[in-house]
Amino acid sequence: MKRFDPEEAITQVQREFGEHGGVCPSISRSSTFTVMAPETMPEIFQGIRSPEKGGCYLYSRHFNPTVDVLARYLSAMEDTEYAVCTASGMAAIACTLLQLCRQGDHIVASRTVYGGTHALLADLLPQWGITVSFIDPTQPEAFDAASQKTTRVWYTESVGNPTLPIADIPILSRKAHARGITLVVDNTFTPMLISPAVLGADIVVYSMTKFINGASDLLAGAICARRDFVHQLMDLHTGRAMLLGPTLDPRAAFDIIQRIPHLAARMREHGRRAMIMAEQLQDWGVAVAYPGLPSFPQHAKLNAIINPGYGFGGMLTIDCGTQKRAEALMDQLQNTEKFGFMAVSLGYFDTLMSCSGTSTASEISPDEQCAMGLSPGLLRMSVGITGNLDSRIEQLRRALQQCDMIKT
Ligand code: PLP
Repeated sequence: MKRFDPEEAITQVQREFGEHGGVCPSISRSSTFTVMAPETMPEIFQGIRSPEKGGCYLYSRHFNPTVDVLARYLSAMEDTEYAVCTASGMAAIACTLLQLCRQGDHIVASRTVYGGTHALLADLLPQWGITVSFIDPTQPEAFDAASQKTTRVWYTESVGNPTLPIADIPILSRKAHARGITLVVDNTFTPMLISPAVLGADIVVYSMTKFINGASDLLAGAICARRDFVHQLMDLHTGRAMLLGPTLDPRAAFDIIQRIPHLAARMREHGRRAMIMAEQLQDWGVAVAYPGLPSFPQHAKLNAIINPGYGFGGMLTIDCGTQKRAEALMDQLQNTEKFGFMAVSLGYFDTLMSCSGTSTASEISPDEQCAMGLSPGLLRMSVGITGNLDSRIEQLRRALQQCDMIKT
């Protein structure tokens, strides 16, 4: 059977030309749209018509032509029927969970998720009567064991933030569907590399702020799903995306549209460089974790689900032992070596580094951090694609030597 190829799928999207035949689509900035026939407006409000159901655009918090172009790219890339783009990754996650769950419902979630997602699940949703059990994402049986009669959603990241555990999406989707549960997967770390919906996930969410945009100059999110779920989210009277209103600005959508065609090339280069750095770090005896290394605990599992030809991603971690040493290493790498930036986030064309326990995972209690294997000295690195790789490795070597982490 021919494997799904997201890069190829994107090229099949109907090309949207600009107003004057431009090779770039036009940016449609209208907040509201003219309805030409009076009977159309009530039909749009009743859900009988939408832009794709013989209607027209109504209001840009509902659907917007430019944002829809991006949604078409996203749904092609994920092989889902449709997609909604949102103003941030957190908006995509929150709207999805609030659409799927009501007061009294329960979620089983991976304990190794981005700190903001963890806080939403652990603190905010319970205040609204939605309870959450956290489990180890690498153990599909743990999802079963934690499920209750009221469980509506299993939630995981395909490659977890920050310690990079791999979720076995095919097994999870089979198990979830046998119980009538919706599997939601955050694929922020691995666009192109992993296609969660092709592997059986029901809904794929993204922070497009990261690799998909790739320039760290805007925030955006996406929800890729079946058409009926997108229409639920966008229902004019009840849809969570419609009512909470985290709409993506058409100008930001346009910027991402222009960067989607080189996402595959960027992912390959992030992966190529991260692999070479990880091998080098391993040779030096540094405690590196990278999913592409055969020594990585779920390397074989990842190999079984990954789309071939895109590498193993741009994220690696170095366990420096203590927070102090991780900070010293980042200081050297940024301020002495000009190797990259001490900054949260990921997927930028330059290297970004942060000490996860005290930054993006700081919402998570020390006990929970311990349970997810997050050491206080864990330095998370999003490997960039700029500059000469040999020079980068030299910079890394000197910085590690300065911090007494290697002898060579
Ligand atoms: N999902 C993951 C895996 C993330 O790492 C992040 C942010 O770091 C988010 C979601 C939230 O995305 P955003 O900052 O675009 O709201």
